[in-house]
Amino acid sequence: MKKILKSNLPELWKELSEKFNLFLPIEKRNTLNFLPWKTGEIVNLEKVRTNGSPKNLIMPQTETYLKFKCQGKKLSFEAVEEPISEYVLFGVRPCDVNSFTLLDNVFLKEPVDTFYREHRNKGLIISLACNNPDDTCFCSAFDIHPEEEILGADIAAWDLGEYLVFKGKTEKGELLIKSLENLLEEFEDEKKLIEIKESIKKEIEDLPYSNLDLKNIKESLLEIFEKEEVWEEFSKTCLGCGACTFVCPTCHCYDLLDYNASTCGEKFRCWDSCMTSDFTKMAHGNPRETQLQRLRQRFMHKLVYYPNNHDGTYLCVGCGRCVDKCPVHIDIVKIIKKLGGEKDGM
Ligand code: SF4
Ligand code: SF4
Repeated sequence: MKKILKSNLPELWKELSEKFNLFLPIEKRNTLNFLPWKTGEIVNLEKVRTNGSPKNLIMPQTETYLKFKCQGKKLSFEAVEEPISEYVLFGVRPCDVNSFTLLDNVFLKEPVDTFYREHRNKGLIISLACNNPDDTCFCSAFDIHPEEEILGADIAAWDLGEYLVFKGKTEKGELLIKSLENLLEEFEDEKKLIEIKESIKKEIEDLPYSNLDLKNIKESLLEIFEKEEVWEEFSKTCLGCGACTFVCPTCHCYDLLDYNASTCGEKFRCWDSCMTSDFTKMAHGNPRETQLQRLRQRFMHKLVYYPNNHDGTYLCVGCGRCVDKCPVHIDIVKIIKKLGGEKDGM
């Protein structure tokens, strides 16, 4: 394992940014997001949760996939194959690393989404364990252990106060560490790392939502599926703004649209939200006409339908962003608990 003094990190970022597009949690107008790094940016590796998740790096908010031209009655198409530069995502929290695996289950299975695959292949992920988890984090409910080495990261990192410690997890990660050897020192204080891991584990166990229990949630949701009065209670204040879905690292609905300037145009896709009233609206109407049905769909997809298709894995990583961002405080954890998903409340 290797370490670097935190005060030397800007030097490391400079070197990385000369070879890759480097994205870090950067403060801009009091908001923390993964943004391209350049000297002078305010990097925040203390705060555990960025405003949006880094999913826009592998699934851009808008992306053109086909161009077309009309010349008289002749219509011609042009495939879009814009090269994607190699990039490094530095400081990704374990919940967000995990979300990439959940998206892979959707986009890398046949038929493979080649655009997504290209974004995914060009990225190298450096995870960062969560020394200061937030009160609304509940990743442990999904068997994510943010103190450990996370599957899906190329390099795992821990904050040991004065130092960051790195461990290569994939060939790509090992090679990157090797290429930075001039800036890194050998790390040998295993005892200190174990202490940090223990302290993170303890912090996670002490979080307010740590007693969430999902073992009966699927049955509970299926049982109340038809009980509109229950869903009415959960959804009556929902504004249908879609904020919960846009900040969610695992939500992946998109719309296919045309930009048409009469003689030429583009077909592109952009993020969409199952919580908005025109989602999946078609010529015959909308299959989900009420907010009750839309909210129910979001819960059923995350906690029943996706797990049914993916060996029981839930489509949530407990990042807490939707809990934090919902303007009317609709809280997925409180709803799960109301349905009996509480360890001490069974
Ligand atoms: S549903 Fe909420 S808590 Fe779960 S991954 Fe999405 S934003 Fe995070
Ligand atoms: S953020 Fe809250 S109000 Fe907005 S769509 Fe989601 S649940 Fe509804």
